Amino acid sequence: MNIESIFLLNFRNYSEQYIELDPGINIFYGENAQGKTNVIEAVYLLTMGKSHRTNKYNEMVKWDKNDSRICIKFNKDDFDYNIDFVLKRNQKKQIKVNGVRLDKLSDILGKLNTVIFSPDHMKIIKEGPSERRRFIDSILSQTKPKYYYNFTQYLKVLAQRNVLLCNEKNDGIIEKTLDIWDHQLIEYGSRIIKDRQIFVESIDNKAWKINKELSGGREDFHLKYMPSIAYGKHEITDIKNAFEKRLTEARASDMRRKLTQYGPHRDELNLFINDKEVRNYGSQGQQRSVLLSLKLSEMEYIKDETGSTPVLLLDDVFSELDKLRQGFLISFIKNVQVIITCTDYENLYLGDKSTYKIFNVRSGK
Ligand code: ATP
Ligand code: MG
Repeated sequence: MNIESIFLLNFRNYSEQYIELDPGINIFYGENAQGKTNVIEAVYLLTMGKSHRTNKYNEMVKWDKNDSRICIKFNKDDFDYNIDFVLKRNQKKQIKVNGVRLDKLSDILGKLNTVIFSPDHMKIIKEGPSERRRFIDSILSQTKPKYYYNFTQYLKVLAQRNVLLCNEKNDGIIEKTLDIWDHQLIEYGSRIIKDRQIFVESIDNKAWKINKELSGGREDFHLKYMPSIAYGKHEITDIKNAFEKRLTEARASDMRRKLTQYGPHRDELNLFINDKEVRNYGSQGQQRSVLLSLKLSEMEYIKDETGSTPVLLLDDVFSELDKLRQGFLISFIKNVQVIITCTDYENLYLGDKSTYKIFNVRSGK
């Protein structure tokens, strides 16, 4: 995967900017608040159809303008793509891929593949389970359109089920309608569980290898998927049966508490180093290595699934890594297109800088 160019029109603090990227390492450096992360955000927006830092599309349109446009040209598997994304204030987004209008925003998923990594991602390690579920969901949504469909349908059904549980109607009517929602919750939810299980098993081995090297052979890093429903075999029928049983057992208590207590929205992904939970026992350095291992295995996973190497977006993260990890990262990302943002690249351990394309970002230029 190789991004050839990015065109920004009235996007954040950019008025009109054409950027031609190098197929290798691209460094965007400059003082704070100049527009470095805005470039990363534009690329991410065309990967996922949404920003990595806001849910409000209007925020991305330049303050004094009404519409904004981002065009990215890239090459994937010897095929040229051109994504044209138009954002109008308070209006539906208009997206074209090679001139053909997309019906739904989510149709953009799977076209441009990227892996984003910023210091903010330490949340995956340090915070609650929702951050780790988000980590899994964003990767699976990018690589499996069906997963994204099942996931969004599941969330809709879950929201409706919870509204019903808060209803003051008599219990007989509620129970009958719950049967209908439960059936759908099980259909979508079981597929999500199965995909998450397979994903975690696949990434576990990759992350273990990377972390082993990063720790000089000392550490065994493992990911363990902990679904909120216990099931036997990984077959979809076993998962469905276990989910149904759990919902039936928990129904009275769900009705009392007025919420759905079991399902993929309550899953956990536990991270262990030498059998100890990283979140509670890992040092700062170990936590950073684990995050780097997760991000690099995410890259490998996307490559395995899609057949092409994703573009790596490193926002402010390179300077945060020590020399050992910077060196490891550089050796890992040979033949990968990378966008690195930093305030100063002079002190980065990047090897031969003459091969990199360097951009100085100043006031949205
Ligand atoms: P840092 O090194 O602090 O991370 P940065 O170069 O990554 O800085 P960005 O986040 O890319 O900075 O850009 C922030 C700039 O964009 C700020 O000056 C901010 O005021 C400006 N900005 C944000 N949204 C808009 C908008 N909608 N219209 C115009 N300017 C905006
Ligand atoms: Mg920034």
